[in-house]
Amino acid sequence: MTEVLKTLILGSGPAGYTAAIYAARANLAPTLLTGRQPGGQLTITSEVENYPGFPEGVMGPEMMERFKAQAERFGTVVLDEFAATVDMSKRPFTVTTENGMTFKSETLIISTGASALYLGLPNEKLLQGRGVSACATCDGFFFKNKVVYVVGGGDSACEEANFLTKYASKVYLCVRRDALRASKIMQDRALKNPKIEVLWNTAVTDVFDVKANKVNGLELQDTKSGVKRKVPADGLFLAIGHQPNTELFRGVLKMDDKGYIQTVPGKAATNVPGVFAAGDCQDSYYRQAITAAGSGCMAAIEVERFLEDQHGK
Ligand code: NDP
Repeated sequence: MTEVLKTLILGSGPAGYTAAIYAARANLAPTLLTGRQPGGQLTITSEVENYPGFPEGVMGPEMMERFKAQAERFGTVVLDEFAATVDMSKRPFTVTTENGMTFKSETLIISTGASALYLGLPNEKLLQGRGVSACATCDGFFFKNKVVYVVGGGDSACEEANFLTKYASKVYLCVRRDALRASKIMQDRALKNPKIEVLWNTAVTDVFDVKANKVNGLELQDTKSGVKRKVPADGLFLAIGHQPNTELFRGVLKMDDKGYIQTVPGKAATNVPGVFAAGDCQDSYYRQAITAAGSGCMAAIEVERFLEDQHGK
């Protein structure tokens, strides 16, 4: 018979590992399934400068290794598994993984994070890793002295465009309307950077060249006139926001219209008793490592109290 865990954590970003540290120290012997991107989004960033306690900054992947080591130090079992099905209809909850493992757990902490959005162009997926990217900090290095395009008008787009100027000879920022959504400081940095040229009212409608197996051009459309034109390009970076990784829980957990899990205000509890959510899968607003870590801590404390209530302690 499968052992029943006290708590099972899905996801290995700051929220998941912080929940694990707290749950392990509360003697809840947590198991954590890392998902497909162990360490989460911070493993595809470069330096993290705003996480308190690291005055000199820390590389994202190193920080996540440290989170993991701290969770394991207190006995968390960390498994490189991806949850494929979750049955929350009765307790203990049942989770099966893509590799066919089955887990039963009295409580669940969902910290599955969010993933970058793509435009949905047919060629975009085919050229991913061949000039199309959603992570400038991961791939910028490959574009030394090249011409790249960034799509988006938010903080991410401005940040990525600025970052890319370290390598690229020219960075075009394609903004679909006539204004940026980014914060004032990020806008200023992008607009003042001599290597960045903003293309207002511009959408990217195609990316070439699948036959050449690399990006060598784009089709741009003026969103006002509808006129299309082709331009040479070496890279296409997407920075148009994120979507929460919550597909697995659709129809069971309460979500907003974008798929972010809705928790009880000020808490990590979801609408299913015993299921808690933390980090970017339930937060479209702050989306910071520190806020994700904080909500992971909240989830673990709520799990502890939930189990105490259940067992009448
Ligand atoms: P946002 O949702 O803020 O911005 C998305 C941008 O992409 C918008 O300009 C939007 O256009 C545009 N966009 C969306 N879909 C398309 C599309 N199909 N085609 C073309 N353009 C599109 O996402 P971000 O990732 O930039 O930021 C998310 C959150 O993270 C924000 O709260 C932000 O402040 C924060 N953040 C903070 C940073 C920092 O402070 N250093 C760095 C990065 C993010 P439109 O405006 O027309 O809707």
